[in-house]
Amino acid sequence: MTSAIGRVPIGRNPPIGRVVVLLGAPGAGKGTQAQILSERLGLAHVATGDLFRAAVRDETPLGLAAKGYMDRGELVPDGVTIEMLLERLAKPDAQAGILLDGFPRNTAQAEVLDKALAEKGGQVDLAPYIEVPEADLVARLGGRWICRAQGHPYHELNKQPAQSGVCDVDGSDLYQRTDDQPATVQARLRQQLGALDLVVDYYRKRAVLTVVDGRKDIGQVTVDLLAAIVPAIGSRG
Ligand SMILES: [Zn+2]
Repeated sequence: MTSAIGRVPIGRNPPIGRVVVLLGAPGAGKGTQAQILSERLGLAHVATGDLFRAAVRDETPLGLAAKGYMDRGELVPDGVTIEMLLERLAKPDAQAGILLDGFPRNTAQAEVLDKALAEKGGQVDLAPYIEVPEADLVARLGGRWICRAQGHPYHELNKQPAQSGVCDVDGSDLYQRTDDQPATVQARLRQQLGALDLVVDYYRKRAVLTVVDGRKDIGQVTVDLLAAIVPAIGSRG
């Protein structure tokens, strides 16, 4: 890994907290659960997208490095993202640990993360996977319709109009944007699921994977996740 950023000597770092990697496909409810779990468990919720935007906005050395890559139209290297994560881990609110949401996205990133944590005496303690079958994900992600007049949103699963195809508010036609059509949703999802499956396998081999049934309602999924996570993160150290 090459980085313009100098490394802080390992010996001066405080011990690293728990690291929980929450896994789930788009539409599996991962972001919602991450928010609830981080509050219940006292772990900092670290969504890499937010981390990234904050570093660029605050013009930290890492943020500037990342911005440089983006300005040149290049992907930000995993090494830079990892350095940002490690910086985040060192913040006071992350002392108990972090709940990672949205990283790693592929096995290369998972390997880099493992190495970086190991150098600091840490590890991924648990990787809970909110599993939802592909067909359910397509239904969740692809059931969105909006009205032509004002864009009022509807959903086949949980917010149907009183009269099929007609907006309750203004009576205009409902339509699906290309992005929300099942074929588009399914094609996009397939790509993402391919990478996710490999990451799931990676953590299964590391014996830190735990699978939770994401077809249940939000409250029950939270209960199941807590039942899996609490014993695991309480058992180390
Ligand atoms: Zn409308």
